[in-house]
This record gives sequence, C-alpha cells and structure tokens, in this order.
Amino acid sequence: MVDVQNDFCPGGALAVPHGDEVVETVNQLARRIPFVVATRDWHPADHRSFAEYGGPWPVHCVRDTDGAQLHPGLDTDRFDRVIEKGQSNDTDGYSGFERTGLERLLRDHDVERVRVAGLALDYCVKATALDARRAGFDVVVHRGATRAVEVRPGDGERAVEELRRAGVQIEE
Ligand SMILES: [Zn+2]
Repeated sequence: MVDVQNDFCPGGALAVPHGDEVVETVNQLARRIPFVVATRDWHPADHRSFAEYGGPWPVHCVRDTDGAQLHPGLDTDRFDRVIEKGQSNDTDGYSGFERTGLERLLRDHDVERVRVAGLALDYCVKATALDARRAGFDVVVHRGATRAVEVRPGDGERAVEELRRAGVQIEE
C-alpha cells in the first residue's frame, strides 16, 4: 500500500483527486493479503522534490507532520510493516523500493507476488510496481484501489499502459 497519507488526500498539500476513495478498497485488500507493507512518503523539510528546491511538487509529507500521517480511515492493524521512503535528498522517493530495504523484507517473507495499491497511480504506485517487476516479482496493480494525480490529463491511462508493457497485471 503506497502513500495513502493525508497530504495526498483531498485537503492535503498535494491532493490526488478522490485519493481518499481508495481507503476502503485498501482495507478490503489488506484483509485478504498475508503480508502487508505500507509505505509513507517521508521527506526532510528541504527535500529536492519541492518546488523551492528545484523539484516539481509543492511541499508535502514532511516527516512527522500531520500531512505525512497515514489516512485515519486505514485499518492499520492489518499492516505488518510501515516503511518510509524519500527520506534523503539523493532520492526522489517515488518508489517504495528506493533505499528502503523493501526487496529484502519481501524476500525474507518468501513473497512471490506483490500486489500494489494506493497513491498516486501515475507516480509512486507506478514506480513501485515497476521496481517490483525489475526485482523479479509477479506484480499486480489493483487499479480500483489507486487514483492518479493527472498533472497532464491521461497520465493515469498512460501509466497503466506502461505497467502492462512491463508485464504488470492490472486488476480492478
Ligand atoms: Zn514526495
């Protein structure tokens, strides 16, 4: 489960349209998946992805702030692990696999298939799913449990096509 955090939901600093609508679907998925990892975007206050430091995004998910907390509707009891990404200025922090130890964690739990949901489809969900494929896992993206930012209209659909080309299964 990728980045279902207050700042990515309506009212947040970098709101994904309808982002909070994934909460219930994510909870349902988490009930039937044996090992659940949640990621949190977790930036220093001067992260390079922020516009004032040359990046594309407004300030969001600064570590330890309310905006960086998981959405309160999530059933966090179902999460086996919560990991933080984007913690240093040498990463953009889109992928849950980038300097987080996630691949090791999944292998240690004999994971073969990675199911990805969360926010946002066209950035962190996509990057996480592609990295999971590169690491050799079977990968499923649950499209109905994602929402896209769509900085450019159609980015969500383009992300799905890119994922399919990479061998990622798309489920509703
Ligand atoms: Zn971020």
